[in-house]
Amino acid sequence: MEVRLEGITKSFGDFTAVNNLNVTIEDGTLAGLLGPSGCGKSTTLYMIAGLEKPTSGRIYFGDEDVTDLPAEKRGIGLVFQNYALYPHMTVRQNIMFPLENAKVPKAEALKIAQEMADLVQIGHLMDRKPGELSGGQQQRVAIARAIAKKPRVLLLDEPLSNLDARLRLETREEIRRIQQETGITTIFVTHDQEEAMSITDAIVLMKDGVLQQKEAPQEMYRKPANQFVASFMGTPP
Ligand code: ADP
Ligand code: MG
Repeated sequence: MEVRLEGITKSFGDFTAVNNLNVTIEDGTLAGLLGPSGCGKSTTLYMIAGLEKPTSGRIYFGDEDVTDLPAEKRGIGLVFQNYALYPHMTVRQNIMFPLENAKVPKAEALKIAQEMADLVQIGHLMDRKPGELSGGQQQRVAIARAIAKKPRVLLLDEPLSNLDARLRLETREEIRRIQQETGITTIFVTHDQEEAMSITDAIVLMKDGVLQQKEAPQEMYRKPANQFVASFMGTPP
């Protein structure tokens, strides 16, 4: 599902965290929302999710204006850096939770949970509790849970930042593979330009709440829109 932000601004008192953001994330793509800490990435993601309300501007999923739609009606999947799994539940119960909430019949929810777990390669861990898993495995459970209801848009906020270096590499490739297999439009927040470069179709680069450039990763090196983009992106690997 295409995600389109039209003139999105978010103010907290007299501080403007996101300033007149106009950007389109194409249907079926993986976009990286990139920029230094505090530039407004999470605030933007939460507005797309429906967890924060824009001060002004409109948000569209395809032709539908979702600006006033509550989060639970937007058809989104959310993954945070700290996984936010239910520690007392098994992996299976964690993945099934949103399905049961949505009144999906038990047999069907079980089947979907197994499919999702297999997709993220944790199908053999269904009876474990989150505390018995590695950080990378926990993040895969969180992703399986987020995509179980076949969201229109998958939103990930710094999903790799709690993982060690090796798992970060492995899990980011995993996110790319899952996105390509499911075709779910995915927005991936990170402050790490190399991470964004390596797995996304397009990078949305922000600074101080303002969009600097939106471009395919390699193009961003070739024609940076300004000095900030050039210095943030550095030289190609
Ligand atoms: P990022 O995710 O890019 O690191 P955020 O979107 O979390 O940045 O925050 C952008 C700016 O908005 C920061 O300066 C942050 O302190 C501020 N901010 C975020 N949420 C709130 C809030 N609820 N109240 C006041 N300021 C906020
Ligand atoms: Mg953030």
